[in-house]
This record gives sequence, C-alpha cells and structure tokens, in this order.
Amino acid sequence: MPGRPGQGAVVNPFIVAIDGPAGAGKTTVSQMLARRLGCLYVDTGALYRGVAVLAMRRDIGLDDDLGLAKLCENLKMDLELTPDATRVLANGEDITAGLRTPEVSMAASAISARPVVRAWLLTVQRSIGTKGSCVFEGRDMGTVVFPDAKFKFFLTADPRVRAVRRHKELTAKGPAPSLVEVERDIRLRDRNDSTRSTAPMAAAPDAIFLDSTEKNADEVVKSMLEIIREAQEIN
Ligand code: C5P
Repeated sequence: MPGRPGQGAVVNPFIVAIDGPAGAGKTTVSQMLARRLGCLYVDTGALYRGVAVLAMRRDIGLDDDLGLAKLCENLKMDLELTPDATRVLANGEDITAGLRTPEVSMAASAISARPVVRAWLLTVQRSIGTKGSCVFEGRDMGTVVFPDAKFKFFLTADPRVRAVRRHKELTAKGPAPSLVEVERDIRLRDRNDSTRSTAPMAAAPDAIFLDSTEKNADEVVKSMLEIIREAQEIN
C-alpha cells in the first residue's frame, strides 16, 4: 500500500510507465520513484512470472495456448502491493518466493509471447491502474497497457553491464549461474521480448530514453523526478 506522499508528491492520480530490458535497473528505480511520489509500485514482470510458475507446476507446455487459456480462466490472481515488492497470490497461495529464479525468467519470457496470456494479464494490469497513482514497470506499459500514461520512460543499459548487475543480484541470494550464462540468458530474453509479435518490448514514441550504463539508481531517479516536476509545473 502506498506510503505517505514523499517530497514531490503529485495530487491528481497518474501513471508512470517504466519499460526496458532485464537488468537495466527498472525495479530499483521504480521502487524509489514510487516512494518519492507516494504512490503504488507495480512490478508487472511478477505477473508473467506467476503464470509461468503455475504452468511449470502443472506441466502445461509454454506454447500450449489451450492449456494456458484454461490455466488463466481458472486462476484468481491477487496482488499485494508493497513499496518493495509485488506479492503474487495465486488462488490464495503466496507464490512470490519462487518467482525470481533463472528458470522462471526464461519461462516467463516464453509464455509472455502467447497472446492468450497477454490478453488476460492486460485486464489484470488495467484494473490495478484504476486504484490510484502508480509506477508500473514492464515491457509494454507505455505502448500497450497504458498508452495514455502521463509519464513514460524507457530505461536501458549496455547488455554486459546489465548481466553483471543481474549476476550480482543472483549471487547475493545463493548459488547462481555464471556471469557468462546470465549474460546469455539476458540477451536471449531481450531477443524474445523485442521480437515477439504481440506487444513486443519497445519504447513508446513519446517515451523518454534513459541510459543507466554509467548512472546509479539515485541519478536515474533524480532525472525522472526533474522531468516529472517540470511537466507538473508546466501543466
Ligand atoms: O521484468 P521481469 O524480468 O521480471 O519480467 C520477466 C519476463 O516477463 C520478461 O522477460 C518478459 O518476457 C515478460 N514481461 C512482459 N511484459 C511485461 C513484463 C514482463 O512480457 N510488462
């Protein structure tokens, strides 16, 4: 649930869309920005990961559209939005802990190419967007889910730098794949996500590009806040 509005809080409900590839720093930046703006933070990758985990558990092929459709049809997915995480409850069970493994990342990338899954999650995401001001992070926030978002950013970084960051994150949690494997997976996911025919990862024409290769999260958030405040003053 949202914290108290931080410095720079904006009064009218609004959506900030933050898209970009894996490892660009979207999560850290989105969480920090949501705190500063005093609004909800939504990690839409967690939704794709949640569907992927359930498909894997039930042995549903990641390209089995009928099986995936049935899975979604019978799925009650609830989200608990905290400033630090998007907790996913599937039919009442909290499945958040198992969402961030490398296997689930690849499976989420595979099922995210299936229109049936995207269509179902589109409704879920738009309904969250009606709850108040939110920072949404994902791949198609500014292009498909919230084309009218008030602020749109596309956050990117050099693939090698993104792999190093993701590797560090994974090793901090326990045994992790090698850096070479992490970089290979990131490049593969980039390719899958940007070449799929439905809602590929892309910057909206009106999105502001930010490159975090040589910037830390504080610097990126500072740039975003400057842009948001400037727009608020003009409007
Ligand atoms: O952001 P994260 O790495 O957790 O997302 C996992 C996968 O979910 C991505 O590689 C992408 O395939 C998919 N995804 C998507 N659209 C979104 C968010 C995530 O296709 N809005």
